[in-house]
Amino acid sequence: MLLFTPGPTPVSQNVRNAMSDETMHHRTPEFEAIFAKTRKHLFNLFKTDEVIMLASSGTGAMEAAVINLCKHTLLNVNSGKFGERFGKIAVANGLTSVEIKNEWNTPVTVEAIIDTVKNNSNIDAIAVQISESAGGLRHPVEEIAKSVKEINPNIMIIADGITAVGVERIDVENIDCLIAGSQKALMLPPGLSILGLSNKAIETIGKGKGYYLNLASEIKKQKENTTAYTAATTLIIGLLEVLETIESNGGLSRLYGDTACRSKAVKRALEAIGLEIYPKTPAKSMSTVIDTDASQIRTLLKEEFDVNVAGGQDHLKGKIFRINQMGLIPVYEMAWVVNAVELTLSRIGRRKYDGTANRVFNEAFLGTLDGFKKGTSK
Ligand SMILES: *Cc1c(COP(=O)(O)O)cnc(C)c1O
Repeated sequence: MLLFTPGPTPVSQNVRNAMSDETMHHRTPEFEAIFAKTRKHLFNLFKTDEVIMLASSGTGAMEAAVINLCKHTLLNVNSGKFGERFGKIAVANGLTSVEIKNEWNTPVTVEAIIDTVKNNSNIDAIAVQISESAGGLRHPVEEIAKSVKEINPNIMIIADGITAVGVERIDVENIDCLIAGSQKALMLPPGLSILGLSNKAIETIGKGKGYYLNLASEIKKQKENTTAYTAATTLIIGLLEVLETIESNGGLSRLYGDTACRSKAVKRALEAIGLEIYPKTPAKSMSTVIDTDASQIRTLLKEEFDVNVAGGQDHLKGKIFRINQMGLIPVYEMAWVVNAVELTLSRIGRRKYDGTANRVFNEAFLGTLDGFKKGTSK
């Protein structure tokens, strides 16, 4: 079965092997050496002043960011479940949430953010997804961050990059906190989250807030290549293997280039067989299709063609399906996925199968990708 959900993503054999050794004690020079190497790779990936690894799913890092960086009012962007979650985290921690809500296919505008900030001087942090995974939407986070900092450099910008870090190069110049999670673009099992922090964020954190999620305690320890509490040793060993694999496959620029090509080629292939892409500004992490037969398409993809894609949640349940594009994906797998979607449409009588999706995908990929000439993008 091909796992093509936008998280969790498949864990490759070399990474599973790396994680299968005996459990290592976390307070040892051996593990500290692995931790140091992993940190070095993470600085290259995040380009932020500091990076912190937490033993938690992505939501743990979202909560850590909100409680440590927001003292009063959080402005959160709700164009989907994950943006909504930032507001719920704020309220659960006794903070005020001001929300800009849009349909799940609609990105927030820079103007809407700036208007809201100007009208509410209590807003001291803004939380927004780079890629909102609920609908596969890209928000203009870098532009938002730049415009907000021009008005007030003290407002903290929290960018949820759980389906963006490792997908595309993110300009962190005006971002104070960039969040990643293990089970999405980093191709690991769930349970590890990572925060990239600016020096300004570290200043704002001061002594930190909370106990387990207190970022001040983690910053102090992680600078010394250890953690405040027991580290997720196995996942960190896996993360080092992933980051080394990316390096030996041409590095980050190759990964970003391949992902961008794949993303464009998949969308063209899906449109060529008459499907509609849902978000107005699609993220590169996934392709989201809105379709009245979405449920049936997903079932057939899984049962007849061994392809597992994700559906929608809440009001989009049964109305969309989402295909992953994150990570190191062999080109022959991606070609099979779009081909399987076309086969499915023919199975339900929507079109006559003629191989259009596969052809358009290959042409689009071949036209733009250097790596294709070597026969694979892996
Ligand atoms: C998956 C995801 C999360 C939540 O992560 P968990 O690991 O499920 O806690 C947050 N934000 C985005 C954009 C995601 O895709």
